Amino acid sequence: MKKKIAILGSTGSIGKSTVEIIKKNKKNFEVVLLTSHKNIKELDKQRRIFKVKNLIVTDHKSFIFLKKKYRNKQIRIFKDYKNLDKIFKKKIDYTMSSISGLTGLDPTLKIIKKTKIIAIANKESIICGWSLIDKALKKFKTEFIPVDSEHFSIWTLIRNTNYSLIDKVYITASGGPFLNWPLKKILKATPSNALKHPNWSMGKKISVDSATMMNKVFEVIETQRIFNLPKSKIQILIHDKSYVHAIVKFKNGINKILAHDTNMKIPIFNSIYHNSKKTFLSKSLDINKLNNLNLKKINILQFPFLKILKIIPDKNTLFETIVVSANDELVSLFLKKKINYSQFQKKLLSIINLKEFQAYKKKKPINIKEISRLNNYVRLKIRELCI
Ligand code: NDP
Ligand code: MG
Repeated sequence: MKKKIAILGSTGSIGKSTVEIIKKNKKNFEVVLLTSHKNIKELDKQRRIFKVKNLIVTDHKSFIFLKKKYRNKQIRIFKDYKNLDKIFKKKIDYTMSSISGLTGLDPTLKIIKKTKIIAIANKESIICGWSLIDKALKKFKTEFIPVDSEHFSIWTLIRNTNYSLIDKVYITASGGPFLNWPLKKILKATPSNALKHPNWSMGKKISVDSATMMNKVFEVIETQRIFNLPKSKIQILIHDKSYVHAIVKFKNGINKILAHDTNMKIPIFNSIYHNSKKTFLSKSLDINKLNNLNLKKINILQFPFLKILKIIPDKNTLFETIVVSANDELVSLFLKKKINYSQFQKKLLSIINLKEFQAYKKKKPINIKEISRLNNYVRLKIRELCI
């Protein structure tokens, strides 16, 4: 029987990789739903490959355009995620959640009810809304697989083991383009310097986050939430080759290390085929890299954003929304050259420490509306303070 799947954000970097993987085995998949925001050209191309009958396009103009184009066809185009009941009559097998930013949280929460497995790449959703996601996963008995490479690696290393045996989890960081730059030089970096990631090819936002090390701040929070671990059990290690993604030290003396090529298709492929014998065509084991892992502790003085980890609560609160929204808005201003790197760093550290935001460290998110409202408020506040 064909595996029924949906891809949220199918036109993005993770979405396209998911499409390429299932395209290789097309006859075994029925793609029930594809979604995008604006990129209807790519969405339409994907629709034709898999003969998809349901599309969601959230940008108004793009929605109207596509709706007109298909007015006489048996293809249903929706403008939001409110009508999932019309699309799914019963649970599908697998969903990839790969919309970027906090906008991905609402669709992710809505689709959990409609899918047996949800693979989540969208890290902002996990960071800001984990308590809501976790509740929905339990309520609808949906299996969750993390896709971010470090978390996919940890998940693989600790599957079928008792979590209480975990002593420490190490996640690696390539160090990004500024690994060998002193802070003085980093503070003068331009957007194009920040976008030059040495190992991974990714979208602009996540590339800047990798340069500032904010991506690792986010990934430590993701690790805390997904695996219910205290910060004291999580450590970042610099590993410029990006071959090892995670190491788990167990209390029984065993250390497990997970290495794979720097290719997001590997976690994506394994999230789709995790219980099957399907093979992924990969390179030979890279002995040169293994012989020279060169793992190092990270220097907090070089990357001051890491200080943020000290003030992140142990359980999911609304404070994480403040951090994610403030960083998101500041990255966007930095990329548009409205602020320089030094202002970006100073503003982020000062804004999240504003007195008015401290009470949120004790507030667990109750619903998505609270998260969205706070997200909008923080963005407005940043624009007020920076422009
Ligand atoms: P991209 O920016 O490449 O793609 C984003 C996708 O989301 C596109 O399909 C886009 O549609 C859609 N989208 C954007 N804005 C909206 C919106 N307002 N409403 C609905 N859909 C929207 O992102 P990536 O694929 O790089 O990343 C996706 C997520 O995965 C992020 O959260 C990222 O942090 C995470 N991640 C990514 C990794 C990577 O290697 N790229 C690695 C680990 C995690 P359209 O194309 O029409 O704009
Ligand atoms: Mg990662």
